[in-house]
Amino acid sequence: MARTPTHRYVDPLAEVWLGAAARIGLRVERSPHAYASTDGAGTMVIGSPETLDADDSLAQMIFHELCHSLVQGEASFATSDWGLDNISDDDSWREHATLRLQRVLARRYGLDSFFAPTTEYRAFWDALPADPLADRGDGSVIHAIAGLRRAARPPWAPALDDALAATAVIVAAASTWSEATSLAHAYHVPPPHPTGLPMSPVAGRTCAGCAWRVAGAGEKKPRCRQADLAIDDTWPGCERWEAALDCQTCGACCREAYGAVVVSARDLVRTKRPDYVVDRGAGGAHRYELRREGERCAGLHGGDVSRDGARRLIGRYQCVIYDDRPRTCRDFTLGSAHCLTARRRVGLSL
Ligand code: SF4
Ligand code: SF4
Repeated sequence: MARTPTHRYVDPLAEVWLGAAARIGLRVERSPHAYASTDGAGTMVIGSPETLDADDSLAQMIFHELCHSLVQGEASFATSDWGLDNISDDDSWREHATLRLQRVLARRYGLDSFFAPTTEYRAFWDALPADPLADRGDGSVIHAIAGLRRAARPPWAPALDDALAATAVIVAAASTWSEATSLAHAYHVPPPHPTGLPMSPVAGRTCAGCAWRVAGAGEKKPRCRQADLAIDDTWPGCERWEAALDCQTCGACCREAYGAVVVSARDLVRTKRPDYVVDRGAGGAHRYELRREGERCAGLHGGDVSRDGARRLIGRYQCVIYDDRPRTCRDFTLGSAHCLTARRRVGLSL
């Protein structure tokens, strides 16, 4: 007697990622006429199975496209192909940012081999250093960090992390059965870090050498500015480990991280460098601030960025009113909570 199936088999990973895309607000269609694209109106098109390579998966391709959206930001949902120029190489640094972000997110779940990309950018992925975010002078790193911070908020959160966690469970189970040529075979359990943050991918880093270690006074143990916990100097570094901070390659607090620098009536900059001070008061009341040029304090010079595919920082930042800077600037401390906030806002710190 003929049997009428009531259910159909669907690749479990495809279900996870189709579901994640739907929760994030995207409908996925398959087509033999596209590899991967978006229409800016809520549809993502992924190549149909016969067009894909043996190591392609719908799951990885949806994940990769979501990584693009993280780098490009919320507004990119309303533009085709996330607003990327796919004709020239002008946006290659954005692809690099996407791959750095993809590597970091995948590694958190032990999926960095399983979720490797399969395009012509695979060579870039394979050449990435152990820490894809280590070079903070590279514009693609800055945009990757900004994207990683977006991943913690809607529409990506919590769907993206849920999908990665579900994928890790499925791949971990499959890995014990898989053949050596299977992508699942390379699954590894990500090592835990005592703080609960992801572990640094670089061996030899310790909390003792991290910029976010805050010395404890007296008998008190040192603390971590990032995790807001007491730490042990012998602990290995976490994913947020950073070497000593350098204001001349940062400038975050003097540019878009904060919108205004208050100048008090007593600050000498008012009389010594009046061209850098503006009065925003009204009705006879004074409210002095340092003048802005665009998104940065007018006193901050330098910080030029190359216009090539790297968008690399090529000029160090410099404060030209440093000796006369107001109290607000003098009180701003390197490595403080405000410093961390500033660096996060410009994509320099996780
Ligand atoms: S941010 Fe730095 S101090 Fe904090 S846990 Fe990570 S490595 Fe240790
Ligand atoms: S945010 Fe911190 S590291 Fe950056 S310039 Fe300001 S004080 Fe220096």
